[in-house]
Amino acid sequence: MALLRRGKRPWPPIWRSGELRSSYDAVVVGGGVHGLATAYYLASNWGITDVAVLDKGYLGGGGSGRNTAIVRSNYLTPDGVAFYDRSVRLYERLAVDLNLNVMFSRRGHLTLAHSDGALRTMRWRAEVNKHQGVDSEVIGPTEIKRLVPALDTSGNPRYPILGALHHPPGGIVRHDAVVWGYARAAAALGVEMHQNTEVLDIDVAGGDGPGGKGPGGHVTGVRTSRGDVSAPVVVNCTAGWASLVAAMAGLRLPISTHPLQAAVTEPVKMFLPAVVVSGSLHVYVSQTDRGELVFGAAVDPIATYDTGGSLAFAEELSGHVLQLMPGLGRMRLLRQWSGLCDMTPDYSPIIGPTPVAGFFCDVGWGTYGFKAAPVAGEQLAACIASAETPDLIEPFKLSRFSEDRLVGEKGAAAVGH
Ligand SMILES: Cc1cc2nc3c(=O)[nH]c(=O)nc-3n(C[C@H](O)[C@H](O)[C@H](O)COP(=O)(O)OP(=O)(O)OC[C@H]3O[C@@H](n4cnc5c(N)ncnc54)[C@H](O)[C@@H]3O)c2cc1C
Repeated sequence: MALLRRGKRPWPPIWRSGELRSSYDAVVVGGGVHGLATAYYLASNWGITDVAVLDKGYLGGGGSGRNTAIVRSNYLTPDGVAFYDRSVRLYERLAVDLNLNVMFSRRGHLTLAHSDGALRTMRWRAEVNKHQGVDSEVIGPTEIKRLVPALDTSGNPRYPILGALHHPPGGIVRHDAVVWGYARAAAALGVEMHQNTEVLDIDVAGGDGPGGKGPGGHVTGVRTSRGDVSAPVVVNCTAGWASLVAAMAGLRLPISTHPLQAAVTEPVKMFLPAVVVSGSLHVYVSQTDRGELVFGAAVDPIATYDTGGSLAFAEELSGHVLQLMPGLGRMRLLRQWSGLCDMTPDYSPIIGPTPVAGFFCDVGWGTYGFKAAPVAGEQLAACIASAETPDLIEPFKLSRFSEDRLVGEKGAAAVGH
């Protein structure tokens, strides 16, 4: 009805753009969900509104518009569980906070165990989750079949389903709605969005490295494809490109970039009520509200910035899905795509201050960063505004790599997304 009433009149723009100014209080590099969330919380929670979000492409054009939109908090380490749990809670009220329906659908998340070793890890995760007040428990094949009748729990497949970690708070959300919601809400508070604005270099003074960059220095601004901008605070939210942008400030990050592929089928009647993940088969699947099945997998093994899809991916994915749900044999894949993932050695992010004063990072999100955007944005904004690192992100500081304090999340972050 609203569409008919509007007729051919153009829709009003939902975020502010205009001329790029020569100075801001803060520049956020990267207009994905992390950059936008950081800008939004800087403005909404701390009144810091003289902020520009710069993106070399379009808002949400990176991983934020390419992910499979799974939200959960059933991680392995106490630090990880507490952090992601805060994000799930923020997602639960995000539609109200941003005044936009982000279609958060809490439908439960099942991580299947196909071996005794996997079952042990599920029990471990369930215990850590419960200690943090997060709802997760290990269930057996009968209960799994009751929750997702399409799964083959007969014990006959090559990888039989022995049990699963069931995490009722997990679900899916509409990724582009989250991007647009943060962009619109931040713009309404005064934040500027500048698309097609590439950061080519970062100005740093007083550092130990070549040209005064690197540790010990302080950031003074950025050079962009549309001119130079001075700013005492520059935030790196560039995910797959994070190590390139950090290098502009003279910093080396322990990140390698890998593509991650995903695929979607034609829509069918709803039959998959939960998100289903199999780490052993390197596959996960959920059904959207429109009825399509959305599949994801593990990252491609070779580090590259190439985001071309491969037939091998589609073949392997289909074979593995059919082992889990033989009844899907006649469904058709509609399309596949990929995005870049910034992988760290411990499968945990890098958030907070860096050895270059004023240069902050919110990176290392690998295959699991979409769900974390609300909490990462909220906590990083607090870190920037208060000059103190909040407890929730303290474990994820860059310094953990030199202090031997890794936050090992491979058992919960790989494939589970
Ligand atoms: C196929 C796939 C499935 C995924 N599934 C899930 C999932 O189910 N759940 C989950 O939690 N996570 C998932 N992820 C991971 C998630 O998408 C990312 O971790 C998250 O979107 C990262 O958001 P971001 O805002 O940090 O980065 P991005 O959205 O990648 O944004 C970074 C932006 O930086 C810009 N940029 C880069 N360099 C420059 C520069 N020099 N100057 C200006 N701009 C620059 C880029 O144009 C880009 O828009 C998935 C990822 C992929 C690829």
